Amino acid sequence: MPEGDALHRAARRLQPLVGQRLEVEAPNPRAQATGVAPRIDGRVLEAVEAVGKNLLLRFDGGLVVRSHLRMTGRWRLEPRGKARTGLPWLVLRGETQEGVLWNGPVLTLETRNVPRLGQDVLAPEFDLDAAAARVRSAGDRYLGEALQDQRLVAGIGNMWMAEALWSIQISPWVRVADAEDGVIRDALAAAQRLMQEALATGRPGRQVYRGAGRPCLRCGTIVRSRGQGDANRTAYWCPGCQAGGRPRGE
Ligand SMILES: [Zn+2]
Repeated sequence: MPEGDALHRAARRLQPLVGQRLEVEAPNPRAQATGVAPRIDGRVLEAVEAVGKNLLLRFDGGLVVRSHLRMTGRWRLEPRGKARTGLPWLVLRGETQEGVLWNGPVLTLETRNVPRLGQDVLAPEFDLDAAAARVRSAGDRYLGEALQDQRLVAGIGNMWMAEALWSIQISPWVRVADAEDGVIRDALAAAQRLMQEALATGRPGRQVYRGAGRPCLRCGTIVRSRGQGDANRTAYWCPGCQAGGRPRGE
């Protein structure tokens, strides 16, 4: 089967997602390490096309994800939330369906027109104090939102934000301006540690992410979810044991 055919079929298969604002995850740690998922999470998919040996996924803001399938990669379109075993490279979750990339193996992001990024939380030279100072500049925004602002610190997506703040028992609804320096540092250190563990073990280790409506594993309070920030990404948190902030109006 010529590779170009497979790519064109994949592009056609993903068309139902075009025009939708997508929730994006990279369950596979090798894909997580590319840093692609958090930068396209919450963006609108504007086009999918096969160009040469690449599938190009164009997102709002001028972001283009290049997926080269080589011999192993496969894109599928599945019902939203379908149960699966294994760790796909990318899940592009739309309203009723999700595009799923299995077996990578090449995923890159073209970042023209994108503001300069913060330090990569997984980089060996990651400087926690410098990153905390940069997050601190987010001022009045929510901590959960600031941790995902790739201009402040790069690589933390929706899932790791939720897991990091759950692990240190701090609410994503704390305003950065109200957070103590130690809290910001602890949040970044927790994200770094959890992401490194996932890379080492191949397991995402979820405690709270996508757990809305279920009892918290630590205190038994029902976990909540709510859209947060300009991108309206869904924050997951336990109102029982994560301290310090509530959504506006509560
Ligand atoms: Zn709890």
